[in-house]
Order: sequence, then structure tokens, then C-alpha cells
Amino acid sequence: MKSADRSITHARVCAFLAALVIPITACQRQSEPSASTATVPKRPVDQARLEAADSDAANWLTTGRTYSEQRFSPLIQINDQNVGQLRLAWHHDLDAIPRGQESTPLVVDGVMYVSTTWSKVFALDARTGKLLWEYDPKVPGEWGINACCDVVNRGVAFWKDKVYLGTLDGRLVALDAATGTPVWETQTVDRSQRYAITGAPRVIRNKVIIGNAGSEFGVRGYISAYDADTGELVWRFYTVPGEPGKKDGAASDEVLEKIARPTWTGEWWKLGGGGTVWDAMAYDPELDLLYFGTGNGTPWSHTLRSPDGGDNLFLASIIAVKAETGEYVWHFQTVPGEDWDYDSTNHIILADLEIDGRKRKVLMQAPKNGVFYVLDRETGEFISAKPYVNINWATGFDPKTGRPIENPEARYGRTGKPFVARPGPAGGHAWQPMSFNPLTGLVYIPALDLAMPFGMKRDERTSRYAFNVGFDFLGASLPQDPKIKAEAKATSVGYLVAWDPVSQQAAWRVQYSDAWRSGVLSTAGNLVFQGTAMGELQAFAADTGERLWSAPTQSGIVAAPITYEVDGEQFVAVVTGWGGAFAIAAGEIAREKRAPLNTPRVLAFSLKGNDTLPDPPEIPRPTLQPPPNTASAATIARGRELFHPYCSNCHGDAAVSGSFIPDLRNSPLLADAAAWRSVVHDGALRERGMVSFSAELSPEDVEAIRAYVISRAHDALAERSAGGASAP
Ligand code: CA
Repeated sequence: MKSADRSITHARVCAFLAALVIPITACQRQSEPSASTATVPKRPVDQARLEAADSDAANWLTTGRTYSEQRFSPLIQINDQNVGQLRLAWHHDLDAIPRGQESTPLVVDGVMYVSTTWSKVFALDARTGKLLWEYDPKVPGEWGINACCDVVNRGVAFWKDKVYLGTLDGRLVALDAATGTPVWETQTVDRSQRYAITGAPRVIRNKVIIGNAGSEFGVRGYISAYDADTGELVWRFYTVPGEPGKKDGAASDEVLEKIARPTWTGEWWKLGGGGTVWDAMAYDPELDLLYFGTGNGTPWSHTLRSPDGGDNLFLASIIAVKAETGEYVWHFQTVPGEDWDYDSTNHIILADLEIDGRKRKVLMQAPKNGVFYVLDRETGEFISAKPYVNINWATGFDPKTGRPIENPEARYGRTGKPFVARPGPAGGHAWQPMSFNPLTGLVYIPALDLAMPFGMKRDERTSRYAFNVGFDFLGASLPQDPKIKAEAKATSVGYLVAWDPVSQQAAWRVQYSDAWRSGVLSTAGNLVFQGTAMGELQAFAADTGERLWSAPTQSGIVAAPITYEVDGEQFVAVVTGWGGAFAIAAGEIAREKRAPLNTPRVLAFSLKGNDTLPDPPEIPRPTLQPPPNTASAATIARGRELFHPYCSNCHGDAAVSGSFIPDLRNSPLLADAAAWRSVVHDGALRERGMVSFSAELSPEDVEAIRAYVISRAHDALAERSAGGASAP
């Protein structure tokens, strides 16, 4: 297609936006100047302003930009005709560790608010990147062990004169937006349990809504609403039933008894149950309905969790409640009897679509199970479901209810045979935000095509330090046969999928070798922006998928880009720093599919930009000087057995670090058994997130793990001399 045909013209965009009653500064040319270092909004960020966020084109007021969470910007100064001239306008190096930076920044009247690893917050001048204030909640380093997927944070909320932050250790903190000074703080979780907060709060009618994570660690999921002024709890909704006969005194009490409890068997409450609300929410102000997604069951294995079967409500579900009270209205379960870590916490988007000649108020989600769902958001009625990537756990869906028709082989706990599930636990789409563009009518999905062998393993005990999921981590480890490794790498890919939610098919699709890349932004300028794992920010034509622009970023990207306007200038900004679930756990496959550097930074681009990045530092080749491999085969095998449940989820499968968490094969501690023990057993690095494992691992266990890592370092030396890829 020629570019003239492809382009969505300025006039057409303005006509479209006018029809939506969206006054766009780019159409009207009357953007307000903002004060140079103002940290107080020009207009209060109250309920009226949040409900009108669609038309507040210059700003990005909430994590999903609007209550509908479309992540679509009406700005058109940067568009498919001129995006080739987009240049770096400023960069700001963040005081954050080089891990997964998953935050979507907010921009409120010229000030940007960014959260980072360890739940820190930075306020920057959105025109220049200049630091205005910073806040560190001082999360104890040892809490890192309670985060399944790195010490990440996905963003903050803004309301009136405060910024709201959920911290990794479960606190909700209100900060003075002008100074970053804490105004109040409340503990939202039981600190004796392994909860964490990584998601962004939302604010509705003076209530701050926050969930939590921990379904890999034996917790029970819930979502809470707190008074925005005082931090007092207003309501709470538990997603799975607790101990029989005990009431929570929560908004969920009645519905859990009536609907959820009959779908469970056994003694799941002793194991937690799961169903945590760790990311997606959306809100419809007209219906006053708050929507949220729930996570997988804990343990992962349905057979261990609920031995006599049952759907296990409300795991892997979308739930609608009254925002005012938390009162249940409807639910839709994507995966009955969830068995494969198929969270349904992924990005939820609200839109109004014409389907079969009827205007429908819909809710859309592409959860981890690989299936795109369209529901009626008023009633929860199922409209349609179609896989957006390859799946093998289900063969179809009941056309009336949307209930999956399962592949019986997928139930590994029942068959007793491992099942290579596609998607794997990273999902067909993970937490990375999508975007819905009302001009093209398409949803842009950062999709993954990854598989994982599922086998059940009865945990001997409830661990404080390992996953409690009943999953055979050792059995799922990448086999070291070069042919199998090559095939696994070749078949682990990613897509940017432009999905038509009405016809339930892809309009276009671009395939990548780097699976774990960033969230997505789309704009009225007919553009879709996405960052890569290999260190680029890219722009595509929203209607055709043609790649129109890219810029090097010196770092892989997982966070979603945003766009905003200050003083009449449109910027596209993104936080760089590659990491998160796939990065830390997928070992050699992750390592091969990412840039060699991780630089925690905010980058902002504009058509007038003339900033340049400093030269990247030289990456020294790791020493890889292990001591002699003298341990017995039995000791190494014992170390391998312990490494996978205890260490692999941070330091990488088979002791190959795919992320920027240290690759233990290079560790100088390998040569010093006492120093190794002081860290792994005694917790010498606990403040940096490396806890003491002494409560569950003996000095002999720790020594066996060292022996295994030494043997893996020797494997790497042998591979390096043979030209292999896994060597650090
Ligand atoms: Ca999960």
C-alpha cells in the first residue's frame, strides 16, 4: 500500500475526534503554556477530570491513560507522515538497579511521575527530564524473595494533590505531589505471608484501589479500596474462599459462600488458594463498575489444590464489582480449574464496538491462556473468544458460555504425564500493556509464543524461599542437548499482533525472535510504538504494520511507551531496563534474546529533539574462571535438584542468567566455599535481596549447589571453546 493510501489524514482524525467531542490541542492549536517548574496540577485531578481524560490529550493521568485503559492517545503532531524525524529530546538516568523497569509514567500538566525497581518514585520535568523530587520507601532487601518476577513496579496513581504508590512489601503510600513527602502510609497485607505489590493503584471517587501478588507463594488473593485522604480501608473483596465456617467481614463474604465455595474440594485454604489481583483494572463511570482480573491458583497444580476437581472460582477470572462498595456484580472465568499458571490479570480494555449490528459496551482481555475474549461489560455475557497465538490446552470454546473445550492431555496432574503446554507460564501475552485504537478498531497485543513442560511435584513442605506451586521445576529445565536447545530457541518467539476484536482475527502480525519485549502505545497519528528486548524503540503504521521508525535505546525495554504534550510539543516517552518474569527464569533462551546492556533510564522523543545518549560502557567479558570440578556426580545431581526450586527463578534455568541478576557461573565466590556459604546460607547480601536460606538449606545443601554451579561453569567453558551461545 502506498503511504498516501495508508495515512489517516489530519482532517479525518480531527473529524473523528470532534465526533467523540474530544477537543484536541493539535486540532485547535491552543495549547496552554505551563509554568516552568510547576509541580502542582493547573486543574485539580478529581473525578470529573479523570472521567474526561479521553479529551485531556496533553496528559497521561492514569496508568492506562483513561478509565477505559485504552492506552490510545489522540495526539497527532507526531504521525505516520513525519515519525521518521522523531529524535531523542531528553534522557534521565534513574537511580534504579538494572532489572525490569515495568513502569508506565504518568504526566500531569508538565510533570512526569515514574516508579522503578524497589518501588522508588521520581518526579521529572516532562519537558527536560530534570529531577524535581524522588522518594524511596526503603523496602527491606529481604522482601525481594517474595516477588515471583523481580522487584518491579508498574506505576503510580494521581489524585487531587497526591501521588499513590504500592510498595513491594505491601504498603500503600500517599505522597505529596509537590514534594514527594509521605502524607500517609498503610500496610495492606499480612506481613507474615508472602505478598508483594507490583501493580499500579487506581483512584475512583476518592478511593485508592490496590491488589497484590503472591499466587506462586501460597497466599489468598484480594483487592482493597482505601480512603484517599486518610488511608483507611473502605472495602475488601477476596477472590477465593477461605477456611470453612470463618467469615472475613468483607464485601465478598456472600458471593464466596454462594457461588465460589461449592467449586472447591479438599483443603485449599491451607495452601492459600491464589487468585491474586496483581495488575489489571478498568472502570466504567456510567455503570460504576470496577473490573479486575485474578491470577492463577496456588499451588499451580489443580490436582494438589482441589483434589476432587471443581472450577475453583474466582481463579483466572474477570470480576465486576460496584466501585463504591466492592459489591459483586458479575464474573467470567477464563480457565476453569486453572492448572498452568494462566493468570487472567492481564490488561483489561473497555470500548464500545458494533457487533452483529448492535452497539455493545465490551470488555476485552488477552490473558495468559492465549485466547482473546470479548465480553459484554454490563452483564458479563460472553460474546466471543479466539486464540491470538498457538495454543494446545484447549481445542475450542462453548459458543454460549465461552467455557473452553479442553485437551485432556493438558491435565498433567490427572494423567500423571508431563504436558508441554503452549503457552507456557509466561503466557501468550503477559503483563505488558496492549493498546486499543478506535480509529483502526484494532487491539495491539505484545504476544509471545513460548512453551513449557508441566509436571506435578508434590512439595514436601511449604517453603519460605521457593515457589509453592506443585510444579516440577527440574523436569521443566531446558535439556542440554544442543539440538533440543537450538529448537527451543527457534520456537520461542514474539509477535506484535494487530487484532480485530469484532471479527476475532489478526489484521496484521509482525514476528520477532526476541519474545519478551515491551508494552504498546497507539495514537491518532496512525502509529503504534513498541520497544524491543534488543535495544530499540520502534514505530509502526497502526493500520498496516509497516515499520516506519526506530531509535537505538542502549537497553532492552519491557515497559509501555506513553505520549504527552507540553507547551505545544508532543513527546513519546518510555522507561528502559529489561527484566521481569521471562528474563529472570528462562535462562539461556532469555539470554540470547536481549541486548547486552540494561540501563534504567527515561527516554523522551520529539520532532524537535536534539539530545544524544552518552557512549555505552564497554561490556567486559566475564572471567569464567571456576575452580576445578571435583565434586562427585551424586553431589552435583543433588545441587541441581536444589538449584531449580530455590535458585533458578532469579539466577536462571540451569544456572544461566538470562537477566541482569548475576550469572553465578562467573561468581568469584565459586572458588571460596566459606564465602559462598556466608552469602547463600548466612545471608551476607540480604540487604541486596539475596536472603539467607539457612532455615531450609543446610551447609551441605549449599555446598552441593556450589558444586552444581561449578559444573555448569565448566560446561560453559567447554561450550565456549566449541563456539556455543550459553557461555557468559
Ligand atoms: Ca502467576
